[in-house]
Amino acid sequence: MKFFTIILSLFLFFACNDSTTESQSTLMSNAEIKRPALEKKSSNKITIDSAITLDFLMGKFEPKKHDDFLKIETKYANRADMFIQKETYEAFKKMHETAKQDGISFVIKSATRNFFSQKNIWEAKWNGKRKTTGVKNILKEFPNPKDRALKILNFSSMPSTSRHHWGTDIDLNNFTNKYFEKGQGKKEYDWLKNNAHKFGFYQPYTKKGNERPHGYNEEKWHWSYLPLSKKYIDQMKLRMKDELVKGFEGAEVAKEIGVVEKYILGINQECL
Ligand SMILES: [Zn+2]
Repeated sequence: MKFFTIILSLFLFFACNDSTTESQSTLMSNAEIKRPALEKKSSNKITIDSAITLDFLMGKFEPKKHDDFLKIETKYANRADMFIQKETYEAFKKMHETAKQDGISFVIKSATRNFFSQKNIWEAKWNGKRKTTGVKNILKEFPNPKDRALKILNFSSMPSTSRHHWGTDIDLNNFTNKYFEKGQGKKEYDWLKNNAHKFGFYQPYTKKGNERPHGYNEEKWHWSYLPLSKKYIDQMKLRMKDELVKGFEGAEVAKEIGVVEKYILGINQECL
């Protein structure tokens, strides 16, 4: 019996030892597997970048006086006096050149719009002086400020919340989705979907659905230069508040609507 107990103890000792060794090695290999993911997560941690001011993020500056901006040559645009960040412009020119070889041509229809030009657009829509898509008489049809703001927000941003403030986002060729759904427009959109990312451009306002439940309607014409705009959206995520959205007619409903969460951050997940 004593002999049997010794054998059993020895067996248990080695069995436990084995399992300990095994579990240690399992732990180690798990740690090894997990390490890159953890490192990736910590490198993605957003911190305040004081070189990027809130005034810049909210478009409260003059692009023509800003060192990082320049005027777009008219061969790339449908009108003069449009501005863009230099880095976005270089990437766009490369994309434009490559597309041209495939028989596709791109024209910039809108680029940087600062707070003040966005305020002009927004207030003209708010007061019915400028057309809002699908509305005949906005003052009569939408007397309630929140409803009116939501209607305009289908396609237009409140001043201080637009990606067009940053010099990274451009509108190309045509302001209707319909144009991009057939013929030459479809070829252009298909080309952008297959190639724009190679030059750093992504579509922030994709079709709304489970992946993008909130925000502006789909805009097949709006493309964003992500190497720069990703930095700005990160800062917006960290620092922007609904309370900072002010200084124009209708701004009082920004908080009730939740413009930061629903509109600034209500974009294609690839751009976040
Ligand atoms: Zn746009």
